[in-house]
Amino acid sequence: MTGGLRRTAVAGVVAATLGLGGEPAPPAGVPGIDVLDYDVELSLELSGAFFQGRVSIRLAVQDPRPSELPLDLSGLEVEWVRVDGADTPFRRDGGTLRVPLPRSVEVGDELVVEVLYGGSPVDGLILRENVHGVRSAFVDNWPDRARFWLPSIDHPSDKATIRFTVHAPSAWSVVANGRMVGEPSPTDAGALGGARGRRTWRWESGVPVSTYNMVVGASEFAIRSVGTAACGRAPATTRDDGCVDVSYWVYPADTSFAAELFARAPQMVDFFADLIGPFPFEKLANVQSATRFGGMENASAIFYSEDAIARGTMAEGTVSHEIAHQWFGDSVTEAEWSHLWLSEGFATYFGALFFEEADGTDDFRRRMEESRRRYISSDDVGQPIVRAESNLMDLLNRNNYQKGGWVLHMLRGVLGDEDFFRGVREYYGRYAGDVILTADFQRTMEEVSGKNLEWFFRQWVREPGYPRIAISTEWFAASGELEIRILQEQRDSWPTFRFAVDVEFELPGRTLRRSVDVRDRDHTVRLTLPQAPTGITFDPDGWILKEIIGDG
Ligand SMILES: [Zn+2]
Repeated sequence: MTGGLRRTAVAGVVAATLGLGGEPAPPAGVPGIDVLDYDVELSLELSGAFFQGRVSIRLAVQDPRPSELPLDLSGLEVEWVRVDGADTPFRRDGGTLRVPLPRSVEVGDELVVEVLYGGSPVDGLILRENVHGVRSAFVDNWPDRARFWLPSIDHPSDKATIRFTVHAPSAWSVVANGRMVGEPSPTDAGALGGARGRRTWRWESGVPVSTYNMVVGASEFAIRSVGTAACGRAPATTRDDGCVDVSYWVYPADTSFAAELFARAPQMVDFFADLIGPFPFEKLANVQSATRFGGMENASAIFYSEDAIARGTMAEGTVSHEIAHQWFGDSVTEAEWSHLWLSEGFATYFGALFFEEADGTDDFRRRMEESRRRYISSDDVGQPIVRAESNLMDLLNRNNYQKGGWVLHMLRGVLGDEDFFRGVREYYGRYAGDVILTADFQRTMEEVSGKNLEWFFRQWVREPGYPRIAISTEWFAASGELEIRILQEQRDSWPTFRFAVDVEFELPGRTLRRSVDVRDRDHTVRLTLPQAPTGITFDPDGWILKEIIGDG
């Protein structure tokens, strides 16, 4: 996502068990349970703060066989629970709905657990008037707020397919993950909540997604297609032409700004499909919504801040960031929240790469420089990127976003464009639809490049800080040598950074570049030059995340 409101108090946010240091932690879903599919029916109203829901959860029982299914569910009333069609006693235990599994269930069996529930959600499903005073319903889950409206295994490591049947006031349009199934039709009298002049919309994602990406949005929308993209590179599409439709769903008053904002969305999808791999989902809708974030990358249905679109302040960089997330975060997903940079750092960097391609190197470098400034000016520099936070909202920090993006940029600098992008394509090819940890990315990049990158990932991802560099020089006329002294003056608790850096020398009528391999806190090198330079630029192309604190 982008523009996250940090430090927002969220009821019921849990601290995941997090992997620290080099060894990846095992995924922290529920041992012995693999949810395969959520089939959700929602009844939405034109007034009040009430909804009804029914979900059928199809799951596989694995080793170790659990005795119960602990579903995440906060607030709301549960009317009944059925396991394979049989009414089953259940227990509410804080934010957990505990459903005993029949004794006859064995490892390898599949079960269907059905829950009828409803009430006034305190979070996760936002039922209120939108920025123009029109009643709306929007889901906003990140990181673990799906539990406020959907009984679920609410952890990114357990992906599942999802189907939605949504009964909504007839003036509303309903968007959700995946593809729309049929056209909206008058709601049946026997539907959840009854007919009452409503319409029923059906959506389904045949591609498994994490719960934080499962959304429904319903309001009075203007719906516009911006075109098609990823033609022939969209295995999940059901269109005959092999493309995905790229659309926006915005409030009617905001269509002219939206037309500008999303004009290049198909171009972005094509760019990422070329650079990374096939587009993973059935379509791509860009939706004005009640999300608390600037943008939220829900799989195939990106939600954007309704205020930022209504005010005309939403930046195109948010659009490219959220679209890049469809590959990184939504398709290749961190198995543990502490590895969030695999989602946010990638979206930050690949989102910026679109502008390098479309608008030129200067535009891209401005974005990277802005990222650098925001990182080094933050309090987050004292912590490593991969780090447990007891409040998951605290993960929306400048390590996971700005520094994470820079880690990828520096890795591109170390490996060169060919190996870097070949490695990224291999990583996406291996793990699309799956969940991963940083070690999986490191291993893939090492295998593709043939280089040991342990030092790189340790110093940049698992240790805090960045090099703070003081440079001094002295010219030795007799030998025609320039001595350059590079001091790393960061805190003692930060690592000594290893990096190769270009130094550019201004000579009369020309410039000359040399590469310097820095591995020590106090590094001195002598370079032979044709004459004394009149100027020196350290890292002229901006490949190293650093701060120059003085020069000689
Ligand atoms: Zn993001």
